Amino acid sequence: MSDLAIFGGEPAVREAVEMAWPIVSDGDVARVAEAARRGEISYDASEGMVAELEDVFESRLGRPYALATSSGTAALHSSFFGIGLAPGDEVLAPTYTYLATVMPIVACNATPVLVDAEPDTGNIDLDEAERHITSRTRAMVVTHLSGHPVDMERALRFARRHDLKVVEDCSQAHGAVSSGAEVGTRGDVAAFSLQGRKLVAAGEGGILVTSDTTIYERAVMLGHFAARSELEVSTPHLVPFAKLGYGLNYRMHPLGAALAIGQMERLDQHLEWRAGNFSAYDDILRDIPGLDPAPRQDHVSRHGCYSYQPLYDPAEWGGLPRSAFIDALRAEGVPATVPTSLPLHREPFFSCAETGITTYSVDPGRRLYRAGDLPRSEGYVRSAWRLPAYPRPLSTQMLTGLAEAFRKIAAGAEQLRRHTHATAA
Ligand SMILES: *Cc1c(COP(=O)(O)O)cnc(C)c1O
Repeated sequence: MSDLAIFGGEPAVREAVEMAWPIVSDGDVARVAEAARRGEISYDASEGMVAELEDVFESRLGRPYALATSSGTAALHSSFFGIGLAPGDEVLAPTYTYLATVMPIVACNATPVLVDAEPDTGNIDLDEAERHITSRTRAMVVTHLSGHPVDMERALRFARRHDLKVVEDCSQAHGAVSSGAEVGTRGDVAAFSLQGRKLVAAGEGGILVTSDTTIYERAVMLGHFAARSELEVSTPHLVPFAKLGYGLNYRMHPLGAALAIGQMERLDQHLEWRAGNFSAYDDILRDIPGLDPAPRQDHVSRHGCYSYQPLYDPAEWGGLPRSAFIDALRAEGVPATVPTSLPLHREPFFSCAETGITTYSVDPGRRLYRAGDLPRSEGYVRSAWRLPAYPRPLSTQMLTGLAEAFRKIAAGAEQLRRHTHATAA
């Protein structure tokens, strides 16, 4: 008999670990309070907290332009708008990503063409992307998912070969590095979410970075009113329209910017803490038969440590379903989870001709997808599982408890299998 917690034994992990994110320092609180007291709760041009946050991104990424926005979604919309998509244009996009990577393409009257996932990381599969190139393909968006960067050297070679603009969605990968260069430094334009769960948290907010003057100026005109665009727009064919702009207000709240400045100062510290936890997870999982550490490709110089995502293969566990494995872990006090969202091609928008949209033009000839069409993304969602990236370094006691939880489950696998079969029968 095992003493698995799911059968009434003592849980291996008894420690309560602080999961609250973001970490807010006294300095952060003071910066926000001082801005509020000064009355800095809005702005005209780029100034105050917003200008300071933009400067931090520009100097960290070595980019001439950063534009703070009201959300990561707004930064992505501004990016697609900025690269000048036109009706009928196609944009290669990962099917497995957060919806905000893809739906703003639709809001630019262009057509997202969904690409299958790499089986190990869930990131866009560049070999697959090649098969979807047509005479209408103008751009590709990549998401650095869960902090694991896309191989940017390969992505850029691919894009150059097909004359595509590259948009990076860095929302889950602040500070991640592929082949020596940080994410957000190499695409034509990059968008970061600064939403409350992200590594740099403004609460709600986003930021666009680029080295391309026209992309930047179009983005400014989309969401930042005359006070900013009349000062900053210099491209001759855009100047006459700078005053009215292109219709939206995508400005970030200055108090959110004030919070994010402190988060940026401590980004490397936070990444180091999480990386320590990730490598402890690696050590624990390496010792458990049937489990492997989360995949990490050779080009990754630094993981963004947003979440730790290994793969579970039931065949290695005598057919024990992933859900039974996760339930047993959770009973041991390990807050393991599985992905909850489907690849986008499984959503009705991508399988139904009728979308409910009357304002944008949705290409009537676009591909409608069925289950199984992009099988590796579906396989990834079926096999990935997650351990939380605890915000602070885990104690030795906690790590001992975690290791014990996995050892107990490996030792009790046979009993778990019998129990699962019995309850299923
Ligand atoms: C969070 C997230 C977004 C959207 O950001 P918001 O700030 O919530 O609008 C976009 N893409 C990815 C990959 C994300 O994780």
